[in-house]
Amino acid sequence: SLSIGIVGLPNVGKSTLFNALTKSGNALAANYPFATIEPNVGIVGVPDTRLEKLAEIFGSARVLPAKVEFVDIAGLVRGASEGQGRGNKFLANIRETDAVCQVIRVFSDPDVTHVDGGVGPERDIETINTELILADLQTIEKAVPRLQKEAKSNKDRKAFLEVVEAAAKLLDTGTTLYAGAKDAGIDLADLRELHLLTAKPFLYVFNLDADELTDADLRAKLSQVVAPAEAVFLDAKIESELVELPDDEALELLQSVGQEESGLAQLARVGFETLGLQTYLTAGPKEARAWTIRRGATAPEAAGVIHTDFQRGFIKAEVISFEELVEAGSMAAARSTGKARIEGKDYVMRDGDVVEFRFNV
Ligand code: GDP
Repeated sequence: SLSIGIVGLPNVGKSTLFNALTKSGNALAANYPFATIEPNVGIVGVPDTRLEKLAEIFGSARVLPAKVEFVDIAGLVRGASEGQGRGNKFLANIRETDAVCQVIRVFSDPDVTHVDGGVGPERDIETINTELILADLQTIEKAVPRLQKEAKSNKDRKAFLEVVEAAAKLLDTGTTLYAGAKDAGIDLADLRELHLLTAKPFLYVFNLDADELTDADLRAKLSQVVAPAEAVFLDAKIESELVELPDDEALELLQSVGQEESGLAQLARVGFETLGLQTYLTAGPKEARAWTIRRGATAPEAAGVIHTDFQRGFIKAEVISFEELVEAGSMAAARSTGKARIEGKDYVMRDGDVVEFRFNV
């Protein structure tokens, strides 16, 4: 499945956050018979209020949300691209993930040492991005002689070399490809074969003091620093307490710091969007469930997420949007008013489609 790598400087709260992720994932994994959790992988359910409503309509015994997988990638330090710390190993770990989540320290606790002497979110972001940018420039530098050779006799390779050179130029200005490609007229899809780190989708977690969670000015300022990447604001210490508490007490603690939803829940949702994913829904007496597909997936591809046989033997899908189903009140009522549509193999799924597949096995 798709995964998000968690990176950040030492002492910014990565482990604290990651342990909370793993704990919340344990509860979730119990619901997934085939989920295996490795020590450095945490799984979080994507909060989806539609599932509760579906379970009500279908009398489902349980709800299963979509999941997002986070991988703890320890060891980013200044100089990593030159082999400091875990160096290349660390970069190889990031290369395997589908998106990069940077944890940035904003909390001020004087008892927690900062590697660069003091709290400085913007400086830290620059430190991390610089390492990733330098690693990408090394990758490009290594590839260019080969590409130049290929470009001599092949027009496509010549075009590719030009994109790579434009990418290097952008990286030289200290901008990640994810942040700057659009303005530079670079299509990130064209660069895929180089597996560049900064071409991955980025998201940022700002680890704040509890009393900063409601500071709208601070949040706006930090959001602006990382735009167009998404930002999530949380207090990792509170998150680690929340996962230990029963639901009602967790809600109380959240409300006491002016929040309605846990940071982990927000992180799961933003992560899911950053990965370019969407969900469709199925429901029956056993379970109401959200399934993960990429945006643009067709009905047979969506069926294949449940089982490869469903994709192979796909005949048609009965589809209704979640909103229309709720309005109709039941599947039977939706059918009788013609709101439930029959769709064929070319149908492109929409987020929130409630689906029943028909297939040959
Ligand atoms: P890592 O090196 O990035 O994995 O950081 P850790 O999660 O190990 O945290 C380093 C220290 O900072 C630990 O003593 C944590 O308890 C503390 N810490 C982490 N998050 C917070 C936070 O949000 N607020 C405060 N005050 N301390 C935190």
